[in-house]
Amino acid sequence: MVRKTLTPLEKRQIEKIGIKLNAEFAYEIIPVQILEGISREQQCYANVAEKIKLDNGTIHYGWSVHFNQGLIIEAERHAVWEDENGDLVCVTPHPAGYDTVIFISDNTQVDPNWDTDNVRLNITANPLVNDWITALNAIGEFNRRFSTRIDDDILAVAAGTEQAENALHQEAAFIYGLILGKRAERSDCFCGSSRKYMQCHHKNLSKRIEEIMAGIAHLTLR
Ligand SMILES: [Zn+2]
Repeated sequence: MVRKTLTPLEKRQIEKIGIKLNAEFAYEIIPVQILEGISREQQCYANVAEKIKLDNGTIHYGWSVHFNQGLIIEAERHAVWEDENGDLVCVTPHPAGYDTVIFISDNTQVDPNWDTDNVRLNITANPLVNDWITALNAIGEFNRRFSTRIDDDILAVAAGTEQAENALHQEAAFIYGLILGKRAERSDCFCGSSRKYMQCHHKNLSKRIEEIMAGIAHLTLR
């Protein structure tokens, strides 16, 4: 799929997330050229290693930038292939099927364990999107601390953390539903307190999440 031209607003939003990343370089739009039968989704590090075996060159680290549901701009650690002329090519299938990727170079922060969570910014004026980001960040932190990847599709979580994991996912899904439904003022909170969400979890979401994480802190996986 050919990416549509970025609007001036989208360009400003990408620049904003570059500032949040403390990025040294401006964003670039680079081509996606997957290796047929070899490149796998979400496996950029391995895909680049295969490309280097075939065509030399080097690995180049940075961030790929995505717009998420028109609500969030999100940067994710990413690696691409650099040819012998210094040109960058992404060799990993794009999650939305685009033929290009928005890439911010950051070769100084090499992260071989892929342990860095995505960085997210609200691109709306809706404060519930900030809640959604808080909830998504908490799921990212949970995954880093309490889950391990078995293969491309399966994450195993540490014993005893399942309830906390469910609570975090329930919270994120509920908030996302509120954003789509535009009924936040009238919606009962997901926690069963019989208060409205805006009078309940919205008021102290970060603290509530800290309490969930504190309850399982002794169960570290590593
Ligand atoms: Zn609540």
